[in-house]
Amino acid sequence: MDLIVARDRADLRKARGDGPVALVPTMGALHEGHRSLIRDARARAAQVVVSIFVNPLQFGPHEDFSRYPRTFDADLAVCAAEGADVVFAPSAEDMYAPDRQVSLRSGEMGRIVEGAARPGHFDGMLTVVLKLFNLVQPDLAVFGQKDAQQLAMIRRMVADLDLDIEIIGAPTVREPDGLALSSRNRYLSAADRQVALALSRALAAGAAQGAAPKILGAARSVLDAAAPALDLDYLVLVDPSTFAEVGESYSGAAVLAVAARVGATRLIDNVVVSVGG
Ligand code: AMP
Repeated sequence: MDLIVARDRADLRKARGDGPVALVPTMGALHEGHRSLIRDARARAAQVVVSIFVNPLQFGPHEDFSRYPRTFDADLAVCAAEGADVVFAPSAEDMYAPDRQVSLRSGEMGRIVEGAARPGHFDGMLTVVLKLFNLVQPDLAVFGQKDAQQLAMIRRMVADLDLDIEIIGAPTVREPDGLALSSRNRYLSAADRQVALALSRALAAGAAQGAAPKILGAARSVLDAAAPALDLDYLVLVDPSTFAEVGESYSGAAVLAVAARVGATRLIDNVVVSVGG
């Protein structure tokens, strides 16, 4: 079947078939990580909708909204190649009326870790994801573990607002040398890219340790060695569902998450580690 491009709710209604619908929300500039999400959705549902929308609400005033990569034609080719049925690409004007008033608050969980570094980011993200859920009305939605706090916040929203949508978390796709794929990697110079490898190397060094302080220490020393070219924003070991930092005696699964600036580019990455035990 040919790929359908839907611009609004009426287009989406017309395109809807029988059977379960899976939604893969993206901001475009699609890469192998997005492809894996689309494939995961394809395996689970009769119809796959990929949304492409660079959401102004989730960017801070000094962030990269205006220069965020936009590669719509190439993105359509990726969606077609991966067997998506519908690309939902609304305009910002359609999504946000100038006189709009009501939006979501992500709560305390939206103000820690990545939320502390990017005030308002998770409020904007949850608001657009809820709008996409309401427009597309999917049975399930697939998100990447790459944005671990985003995934945790969406699960929280589904629980707190009683949404009848199954949330699937998909593993992070990496380059052979460990760099997590990101639409922002295209900003990196060759030299930046070498520096950026410290993120995944630090996470791997941490994951090889046992107790929380050792995990953080091992990861930290890899990151310190890459300074000042790598400007660390945070390195934390957190509970996977609340993103609260775990104590020194914690045992169980945790997320080791890092954010750093390399050149003008801010990168995030994380791994799930098994602590203590
Ligand atoms: P974005 O277009 O960056 O907003 O990402 C759209 C979706 O793709 C989100 O659920 C991300 O977590 C996911 N994603 C981004 N990069 C990767 C990756 N390297 N591996 C797996 N999923 C990813």
